[in-house]
Amino acid sequence: MIPKDHPRYQSLVTREHLAECARAGIVSLEGLTSHGRGEAFDYLLGEKTSASALRAEKTAAALLRLAKHPVLSVNGNTAALAAHEIALLQKASGALVEVNLFHRTPERVQQIEAVLRKAGAAVFSGEAERLLPLSHDRAFCRREGMYAADVVLVPLEDGDRCEVLVGMGKKVIAVDLNPLSRTAKTATLTIVDEVTRALPRIAEACTALSDDECRSLVAGLDNRGFLAEAKDEMARRLHALD
Ligand code: ATP
Ligand code: MG
Repeated sequence: MIPKDHPRYQSLVTREHLAECARAGIVSLEGLTSHGRGEAFDYLLGEKTSASALRAEKTAAALLRLAKHPVLSVNGNTAALAAHEIALLQKASGALVEVNLFHRTPERVQQIEAVLRKAGAAVFSGEAERLLPLSHDRAFCRREGMYAADVVLVPLEDGDRCEVLVGMGKKVIAVDLNPLSRTAKTATLTIVDEVTRALPRIAEACTALSDDECRSLVAGLDNRGFLAEAKDEMARRLHALD
C-alpha cells in the first residue's frame, strides 16, 4: 500500500486506476504509453497549471462559447481520467459529447459511453461513419457530431486526426502536455496542462467570461506563443531542479 503522504501518491493512484481500466478494456495498451509520456512532461511543469496554460484554458472557453456546434471528443484515456470533468464542461459549454477512438471496437465505444453517462454526461451516440480522410478506424465519426462541428475539443489526441480536423476547417482545441507533439503544433489552440486540471478551468471560464472577453481572447489567439511559453516554463524548471 502506498502511504498517503508520499509525494507521488496521487500519480501512483492514477496509474493503478488506468491499469485497472486497461484490464477492463476501456484504456488501450497504447493509451498507457501515452499516459507515461504525459507524466514525464507534467513532471517538468511541476504538476501544476502555469499562468500561460490558464490563459489558454480561458481562450478555449471563449472558442467554445462562440461556437455554433461545439463537440467534446472523448477517447479511452480521457474517459478513464476525467469523465466527471467532461460532464461538468458539457454543462458549462452546451457542447455535444462524442466518443471517438483510435483503437475502435463497438464494445469499447459502448463501454466508454457508459462510463461517461455514469458520470453525468449526455452522450451523442448516433451511427458512426467513415467520414474523415484517414486510414483505419480513426476515420469514424458521426455526421451530426464531430463531422459537423465548427469547434472540437480533443484531449490527448493523435497528430494525424488533429491535422485532418484542422484541414477540414474546424477550430481544434488540444489538451496535450507535450508542447512538441504534432497535435500541439497543428491544433488551433493547445493547452499544455494535465487534462483533469484543464477541463474544470475551461468550464469555470465558460460561465465567468463576458461576450466581449470571449471575442478579445479569440482575436488574440497565438498558439505558437502558448507553445513557446510552455517550453520556456519547462526549460526554466529543468535548469532550476536538481
Ligand atoms: P502526436 O501524434 O501528436 O505527435 P504522440 O504520438 O507522441 O503525439 P499520442 O499518443 O498520439 O502521442 O497522444 C497523446 C498525447 O497526450 C501525448 O503527447 C501525451 O503527452 C499527452 N497526454 C497523455 N496523458 C495526458 C494527460 N493526462 N493530460 C494531458 N496530456 C496528456
Ligand atoms: Mg501519435
